[in-house]
Amino acid sequence: MGEIRTVLHDPPLSADTPFGKAKGMVFPRVVLIGHGVIDDLPETCRQFDFPPAGAVITGPKTAELAGNRAAELLNKDGFRVATILAHEATDSEVDRVAHEARSAGARFLIGAGGGSKIDITKVVAHRLRIPFVSLPTSAAHDGISSPRASLHGSPNVVSTTAAVPIGVIADTGVIVQAPFRLLASGCADVISNLTAVLDWRLAVRLRSEEYSSTAAALAEYAAQEIIDHADVIKPNLEESVWIAIRPILVAGIAMSVAGSSRPCSGSEHLFSHALERVSAHPTLHGEQCGVGAIMMMYLHGGDWRRLKNALLAIGAPTTARELGVTSDEVVKALVMAHSIRPDRYTILGDSGLPRDAAERLATVTGVVA
Ligand SMILES: [Zn+2]
Repeated sequence: MGEIRTVLHDPPLSADTPFGKAKGMVFPRVVLIGHGVIDDLPETCRQFDFPPAGAVITGPKTAELAGNRAAELLNKDGFRVATILAHEATDSEVDRVAHEARSAGARFLIGAGGGSKIDITKVVAHRLRIPFVSLPTSAAHDGISSPRASLHGSPNVVSTTAAVPIGVIADTGVIVQAPFRLLASGCADVISNLTAVLDWRLAVRLRSEEYSSTAAALAEYAAQEIIDHADVIKPNLEESVWIAIRPILVAGIAMSVAGSSRPCSGSEHLFSHALERVSAHPTLHGEQCGVGAIMMMYLHGGDWRRLKNALLAIGAPTTARELGVTSDEVVKALVMAHSIRPDRYTILGDSGLPRDAAERLATVTGVVA
């Protein structure tokens, strides 16, 4: 389960088979959002007919927030669940966790944690070909329900194919305890769908890239929902989590429909990945993508001020200084961004921005003072 498969057959040979396209999409089967829904975890696992042996993959901090509780609830309910503490999302950590899960005889996984723990769980589930439930303790990016994962340590890979969770249990009472900065970052990641979709359409026109209007509409809808509610997404307010988490999940669904990260990842994501390479202190993925989206929206000739105002209202960074990076690093990342992933055509084109244009872009949009 969990694998996204796109199959394009050869062109039809006879008039009997006029249409030869086939495409697989994988979605979560159950999504629970609300206060205290972690208590529904055992019931959800029984609905899925999970065998008794499983493993909870969690982090040292997120174990206290949700991981230990998840294991306790399941073990009380007749499951035999091991707890595996995971650290950084790297290739070697995935190897180690996969080995531990296999040794524990786990036939299903629960990913209880922030982005990196869920990314590890996704890749391990994909590798062991077993289902998993995502139990996020924060929502710092749109990866909670997406078929992609980010692993460090493989320099040329920006994201890895992974399993889609069979269930998502987003407990707003748990997520509200995470630092607000993480939720604001998740919102910024979703807002950046607007430039990603513009880049996608550009690639359709200039590179005949495959397009899904459904995926694009879902991605844009998610961004619009965040922008429309930007004024009410505030720290220490559980309702903010409730408002933000649905568009964050919808963004993941958009990627499942597209079979790639295309609807949620364009030039602004290339900028973020470039910043990670040039900066001494790269920061949260979503925050970087939000700032990138301001600048890429300017290049697209769109309403970049509206996008910036939404980020300001939420309290997400809109400048280099707020990101904690230098002006020079922003400019360097802009110049380098197009080369990060040459197969992903964007507004940055094949040759990218010359340095003077990059400097002007960062200044005009107020990212650099
Ligand atoms: Zn992202």
